[in-house]
Amino acid sequence: MRIIYTLLLIITTVFGAELKELPWKKGDTFLTFLQDNNIPQELYFNLEKNDRELCSEIVAGVNYQELRGENNELLQVLIPISEEMQLHLYKEKGEFLFTTTPIAFQEVTQTISIPVHYSPYQDILDATSNQALANEFARSFKRLANFKQMRKGDNIAIKYTQRIRMGEYYGTPNIEAALIEIRNKQTYIFKNEADGRYYDEKGRTLTSFFMTVPVAYKRISDRFTYKRWHPVLKRYRAHLGIDYAAPAGRKIYAAASGRVVFEGRKGGYGKTVEIKHEGNYKSLYGHMSKFAAGIRPGKWVKQGTLIGYVGSTGVSTGPHLHFGLYKNGRAINPSKIIRVTKNELKGKQKQQFILYAKALSQDLLETIKSRPEPLNITKIDKQSKLNAEV
Ligand SMILES: [Zn+2]
Repeated sequence: MRIIYTLLLIITTVFGAELKELPWKKGDTFLTFLQDNNIPQELYFNLEKNDRELCSEIVAGVNYQELRGENNELLQVLIPISEEMQLHLYKEKGEFLFTTTPIAFQEVTQTISIPVHYSPYQDILDATSNQALANEFARSFKRLANFKQMRKGDNIAIKYTQRIRMGEYYGTPNIEAALIEIRNKQTYIFKNEADGRYYDEKGRTLTSFFMTVPVAYKRISDRFTYKRWHPVLKRYRAHLGIDYAAPAGRKIYAAASGRVVFEGRKGGYGKTVEIKHEGNYKSLYGHMSKFAAGIRPGKWVKQGTLIGYVGSTGVSTGPHLHFGLYKNGRAINPSKIIRVTKNELKGKQKQQFILYAKALSQDLLETIKSRPEPLNITKIDKQSKLNAEV
């Protein structure tokens, strides 16, 4: 990615080409983008299945980058499809080529403590200017602590990893451990990176498992991957969901309660239903043969409601359900959220986790004493942001 950016900027200076960052317009699709730029549609139709699915992952409003030469002619375009991957179209010998490429970002891990003045949300925001961190923190402790009981003199401490891109916070921060201290009484959360879930200091689960598998599948034919280097094809592959192979016509059920927000054709995903759930989650069900009666945008469905039937519409080599899950509009691995039967740590695994949590809790308590300066990114002008990337 750095190389591409460097190239972009070198071209900028040498040929007077222009690099622009633009929001992806609502209603635009990968195909309409090709059309608008006089790029033959075969480019899309010649892509393999996974890549065509990825072309349906472009979200309206996302910032993408265009490099245009003389006569406003398109030379390159980079369109993000997740926090980690982007589509890359570029002109070579008069022809446009397609690839997917990782997005460059830095990752900073910090342990910080913040004295409580107003509320944890406001105090985190004041100290870090990081709204996503304030949101994540508030959501993680929602059922565990009563923020209204907090007074001046109480403390919070967080160990988290934040991505930074072009001089701005980027993506959802990953809270590895956090502490709320109310009148010297501590409440902790610890993330187990192995399953992406939160536990307390005794290794007891804190995450609610509110999603169920949406279809009685035969086997999983493709798993979720942000980016996997394919050694033979010498390129990155991504698959932003789970493919459940199942016979055509098999019933598909809502993975959790929520409101239907989309029902129709969605590019490579064919006949698709999308449902919005609490906590900024959205689930997607692709390649359906048929929608269930009464399923349309605006309809409220309960977990387990029949929403459609397995098919092979869109780009698909056989009947299967493509199940996608999004948090804050970004694809996440559904297997981390779907209910599993064994959801408690046991035996040696549990003992190890308790030791890990103990070490982390020491760090958090230490931080309350040492009060390191929190990372706080505020206004940096646009040009230095672009320069920072090179
Ligand atoms: Zn799929």
